Amino acid sequence: MMIYADNAATTKMSRAAIDAMLPVMEEDYGNPSSLYTFGQRAKEILEEARSQVASVINAEPREIIFTSGGSEADNQAIRSAAMLGKKKGKNHIISTAFEHHAVLHTLKRLEQEGFEVTLLDVHEDGLVRVEELEAAIREDTCLVTVMFANNEIGTVQPIRQIGQVCKNHGVIFHTDAVQAMGHLPIDVKEDNIDLLSASAHKFHGPKGIGFLYVRKGIRLTNLIEGGAQERGLRAGTENVASIVGMAAALKESVAHMKEDTDHMRKMRDLLIEGLARIPHSALNGDPVKRLPGNVNFCFEGIEGESLLLLLDDRGICASSGSACTSGSLDPSHVLLAIGRVHDVAHGSLRLSLGEDITEEQVEYLVKNVEEVVEYLRSFSPIWRRLVKGEAEFIL
Ligand SMILES: *Cc1c(COP(=O)(O)O)cnc(C)c1O
Repeated sequence: MMIYADNAATTKMSRAAIDAMLPVMEEDYGNPSSLYTFGQRAKEILEEARSQVASVINAEPREIIFTSGGSEADNQAIRSAAMLGKKKGKNHIISTAFEHHAVLHTLKRLEQEGFEVTLLDVHEDGLVRVEELEAAIREDTCLVTVMFANNEIGTVQPIRQIGQVCKNHGVIFHTDAVQAMGHLPIDVKEDNIDLLSASAHKFHGPKGIGFLYVRKGIRLTNLIEGGAQERGLRAGTENVASIVGMAAALKESVAHMKEDTDHMRKMRDLLIEGLARIPHSALNGDPVKRLPGNVNFCFEGIEGESLLLLLDDRGICASSGSACTSGSLDPSHVLLAIGRVHDVAHGSLRLSLGEDITEEQVEYLVKNVEEVVEYLRSFSPIWRRLVKGEAEFIL
């Protein structure tokens, strides 16, 4: 059995996405900037995809800019809002401690350029408090950027309320909605969103393509200079096939959202129930306000990496917030942000389920994680110290 339980890292492309892409690659391969009919055909296909994407989030087609993915959209959104602020003498930005690195590293860069950044606490449940956000807003705040749903622990933020507070104070609100798009209902108007980032490969579309929603009236700053594509805001010949694949994948995800997410929540809760029976374990993040497919646990006394390798031997693809994934020895900044101490954060496991997850697979996951955790503990020096009472259990 092979179980792919790493859908937060990337997803399998849907048949609908592949079927939509093939004719664009094989037949309608023109350049949308070309003036002859064949090029204009590609332009029509591109604009049809833009309308489809826009309608899913209740935006207008001209408010959608195609990018190379979520990272680029995050970079462009944040840098644009910062540049608009700078013009008005506003150089304060509010975000959270557990954003994706595409956001955090962009903010770091802006700090070096003279901006001041306040990172909000996300508490033990992985949720931003709207009152704390409001209290952090100052006269010189030019941007609030808070992710829709966290990629590691899956917690879903009170986006609509955050957007309302930003609106009341006249501050631009950006949300990294990469994990939420196609999995949770999103309406940019109802949710008071000014800028939003999304990425196709997180909702069964192709990799290397995404989009940025930009509310009418907000001026973007270019990251890539060149031709006049995307109304002059993002140069480079459009990746028409991938854009069409993204639109098809999104349309399909949204069409089946209700049934799919009802099923995933049921499977997620079964999995949480099963893993919670492992002694000295704890779920990370709020149990209810979380993505339909996200399960993230810490197991005391073990190393996330060894856990992943042994699960791999048993056909399970999963992820951990610890060392190797990030290429450093520090545990996940997300787990540290919710107050997990280093040792505990190192023993983390993220299982992100797909729409087709079955009860049988959930049982297989529980059984194997249970066995592997027990096996690793059997020769873990940290575990031995805990059991002997030489160190205190935290979980
Ligand atoms: C995957 C991810 C990104 C990056 O998207 P890419 O398309 O891979 O660049 C950004 N933010 C979040 C929350 C993500 O999960």
